[in-house]
Amino acid sequence: MLEKVLIANRGEIALRVLRSCKQLGIKTVAVHSTADKDLMHVRLADESVCIGPPSSGESYLNAPAIISAMEVTDADAVHPGYGFLSENADFAEQVEKSGFIFVGPTAETIRQMGDKVSAIDVMLAGGVPTVPGSNGPIDSDDQKTLAIAKDIGYPVIIKAAAGGGGRGMRVVESEASLLKAIAVTQTEAKSFFGSSIVYLEKFLENPRHVEIQIIGDGKGNAVHLGDRDCSLQRRHQKVLEEAPAPNIPVEVRNSILQTCVTACKKMKYRGAGTLEFLYQDERFYFIEMNTRVQVEHPVTEMVTGVDIVKEQLLIAGGDMLRLKQEDIAITGHAFECRINAEDPKNFLPSPGLVKRFHAPGGLDVRVDSHLYSGYNVPPFYDSLIGKLICRGNTREEALKRTQIALDETLVDGIQTNIPLHRELVRDIGFTEGGVNIHYLEKKLEAKD
Ligand code: ADP
Repeated sequence: MLEKVLIANRGEIALRVLRSCKQLGIKTVAVHSTADKDLMHVRLADESVCIGPPSSGESYLNAPAIISAMEVTDADAVHPGYGFLSENADFAEQVEKSGFIFVGPTAETIRQMGDKVSAIDVMLAGGVPTVPGSNGPIDSDDQKTLAIAKDIGYPVIIKAAAGGGGRGMRVVESEASLLKAIAVTQTEAKSFFGSSIVYLEKFLENPRHVEIQIIGDGKGNAVHLGDRDCSLQRRHQKVLEEAPAPNIPVEVRNSILQTCVTACKKMKYRGAGTLEFLYQDERFYFIEMNTRVQVEHPVTEMVTGVDIVKEQLLIAGGDMLRLKQEDIAITGHAFECRINAEDPKNFLPSPGLVKRFHAPGGLDVRVDSHLYSGYNVPPFYDSLIGKLICRGNTREEALKRTQIALDETLVDGIQTNIPLHRELVRDIGFTEGGVNIHYLEKKLEAKD
């Protein structure tokens, strides 16, 4: 069992991790930049250490400073949250080499999944369905490349193996522009991600984004916690998520869930992870695996009753997986609204002083947020200031509860995207369920 965990993150997820540590009686160390000394979790942690100036590069991404803080405070493990160093294999390796525990998979797994070409290899070997594609890097044999693309069928998408954050991708409609587009994407990939390796996939025209939460113990045991639909996106950023994904035939769902568990057992996956899929015409296509806790994990917690961060901590402490698949039931439905400090019309960040904050409440209403009245949202980081998560026994009940909770929420002093959420939870298409990944952008365009 872990005794003291350093939380290498900020904002709502740092507070989220702290709460599960307290549940388990684990002591906590908060690390923060000079801009973040007033964060809620810094106040609530047993100890805190300032690790650098506001810039993330010198604080939350500063691996030596974080490892020094672990040494100084005698922590045994580090929880990386999401973003920052959470999927940095070199960091995970340095942590373990320094004699500490990284709450997450092995550095080797992180590295394998961070490279999308090798991730696809692992999934194919595990029987997970992937997008028809080159199943490997594009090389200098142009005739071969043209033949692969023809075989896949246009349109195709060129993707950087090391890509992330929705960058390093290019859609090609026809053979005439393929080779030039590959060259451009290779150059971009080299400058963005340090590797020019690209591969090809069939471009799916109207998919949904459906992902599957799994937990493994690194010893060959793994379970799934069902799926989530995260199709409401703007610029590849998720806005509003739900669990379970609506309108998926039961046999199609059961089959993909089982396949994911089998693959994760085979790779002896350790910790919490998410397999992301595109879903179209009742078929699943793997696109990538995230080897960390995700922003949207609470919707899964609300319908399963499983505290995902607690399971991460127990597994990091060396425990076998306590969860048994037959004991995990998905009951009801849940939505999560990501609340951002931003102008709801032009999406520009809106940092500053929160004069008043009133959180909603009631049965099955959860607010994961570090906000409080008098808190100053700094301009240096991601604009996420909280998440509203509501459960209901049915999708309709959960949706109604989200509407009511959004109407109760008050954030005064800065602008937020709450007005957009109020609209989305009443949108006819969304309330019917099963919209695709282009739905939100099209809706926003139509409003303009
Ligand atoms: P990243 O790591 O940059 O987030 P992903 O591989 O997860 O990259 O893809 C991000 C988004 O790009 C997907 O959610 C989807 O909207 C789009 N996308 C990726 N691959 C395809 C594809 N084969 N067909 C259609 N859209 C795709």
